[in-house]
Amino acid sequence: MTRACTRGLPWIAAAVLSWSAVAGAQAGSDSTASLLRELIRANSSNPPGRTQAVDDILAARFRALGFDVKIVTTPDSAKTHIIARLRGDGSKRPVLVAAHADVVGVEREKWSLEPFDGIEKDGYVYGRGAIDFKGGMAVFARAVMMLAERKVPLARDVIFVAEADEEGGGPYSTEWLAKSNWSDIDAEFALNEGGWIMKGDDGHVRYVSISTADKSSVPLTVSARGTSTHSSMPRPDNAIFALSRALAKLSAYETPLEITPATKQFFIALSRTSKPPMSEYFRDIVGADPARARRADSVVSRDPLLHSLVRNTIAPVIIQGGFRNNVIPGSASATINLRLVPGSNLDAFVASLRRVIGDSTIELKATAPTYAQSAPSSENTDLYRALAKAAHATFPDAEVTPYLFQAATDASAWRSRGVPVYGIYPYPIDADELTRMHGNDEKVSIASLKQGTEMIYRTLVEVAGRP
Ligand SMILES: [Zn+2]
Repeated sequence: MTRACTRGLPWIAAAVLSWSAVAGAQAGSDSTASLLRELIRANSSNPPGRTQAVDDILAARFRALGFDVKIVTTPDSAKTHIIARLRGDGSKRPVLVAAHADVVGVEREKWSLEPFDGIEKDGYVYGRGAIDFKGGMAVFARAVMMLAERKVPLARDVIFVAEADEEGGGPYSTEWLAKSNWSDIDAEFALNEGGWIMKGDDGHVRYVSISTADKSSVPLTVSARGTSTHSSMPRPDNAIFALSRALAKLSAYETPLEITPATKQFFIALSRTSKPPMSEYFRDIVGADPARARRADSVVSRDPLLHSLVRNTIAPVIIQGGFRNNVIPGSASATINLRLVPGSNLDAFVASLRRVIGDSTIELKATAPTYAQSAPSSENTDLYRALAKAAHATFPDAEVTPYLFQAATDASAWRSRGVPVYGIYPYPIDADELTRMHGNDEKVSIASLKQGTEMIYRTLVEVAGRP
């Protein structure tokens, strides 16, 4: 009640502003869908991750608008990065907008339409990357282009980057780009993929979550050894049985709650947009009472996304052992994908898993994370504030909250160098559309693309425009 009263006037002002901005932005943001369709047709499935065709589409458009455009080739000639810079007056440091140009592959037989034709149907654009992340790339690129088209006076450079090798963490990702071309992509802060503009069952946007940190992904190998011998004379030290016992212990184990400040804010926002009893569970899971938090966890964590936000997770992904019917193998191993909340101590976490397994003959070995773990980005920056303000203006009824992203992204190249990165999939989506990401019949609504383009354009005008 209090909230509704205090927010009444700004809400009306935002709604009026929102209407006029939509009217003005119509022509520019309409072409976000057509740009996306072109980008989908440039098949950049990784592997092999050829991004040159994507960069060619973007380079032509950016050059026509007077951007400084650089295509960075890598030792793998198919994988390129593009950096397009729109000059400001230099009184402030640059803002960077980044999007990966590669996509994951498809299981073609499971799609009901061609995944690389950029098909428009019933108000949606279909195709691999519609959500992750060619849709975001189209929104970011169009918003940046609109600054040039409308000759917005800029206090800082606006840099657009489309990157290779994000999906699967290949060798020529942003880490490689940062090492070889840092001065071209150095900025005060950056936008990338990350949080969600989430619709509820009624189709209205419930919340806008802006990721300020990513979980890190660490491969852990669990190995068992035994006597390699003829399978007609089994022994107690069978490596496959030993590995199975270890995995069974891990499968029955739930890791403890690890709540970051951003996660706490996110659940409080969820609580505000939910009805009892879920609103209470969302509050309790980040509350001070451990018993209530545990009870809330048992309900909230039935949702796999929410489960992943509140803890380090363990997921077996590969299992190996044995090679023929009449031989007991001398070893068996499993790869477990660990996903760590920022600030977690990897050695301590692996030691806790060793205790759970409780078998000193089982070996646990973690390797380096795919992307370096980095500290969360501060919410106290002009870019975070501009994005949050634009989100409120575009979706006046939605909660806006910082967020810990459940997966890893290539934002670590900037975060680990002290550049704050804020993540957003810049279009309203619902649970069904989210399931299709990396899945089948991936799609994004054209209305969502328009709203997203408007929101990012407003953000950039606010953070980079000359007052
Ligand atoms: Zn992505």
